[in-house]
Amino acid sequence: MSHQQGKVTWPGERDTVLGLFEYNGTVDVAMTAIHPSAGVLWQHWRTDGNRRECTCGEPPTPVRLIADYGGGVEWDSEACLVCGAITGTLSPYMEASK
Ligand SMILES: [Zn+2]
Repeated sequence: MSHQQGKVTWPGERDTVLGLFEYNGTVDVAMTAIHPSAGVLWQHWRTDGNRRECTCGEPPTPVRLIADYGGGVEWDSEACLVCGAITGTLSPYMEASK
């Protein structure tokens, strides 16, 4: 399994799950769509249905992304919770671009 289900949480509140995303462990990059349920996530598994961009133009929200890949990875990023899209850093091994 090179792809894992990841969860979007508030920074510092890792038990509050805002949504789910697909984590591509092969290249260590998160797919950008945030889905409210695992069913929808799996429906679009490994397809462009799990990619999404913010189209509303609202300011992004700071989030913490957590995936159970390998020993587990997590990192700070940003997302538009209105559109359901990760807009910030997509990889735990990528420095946030300011
Ligand atoms: Zn948006």
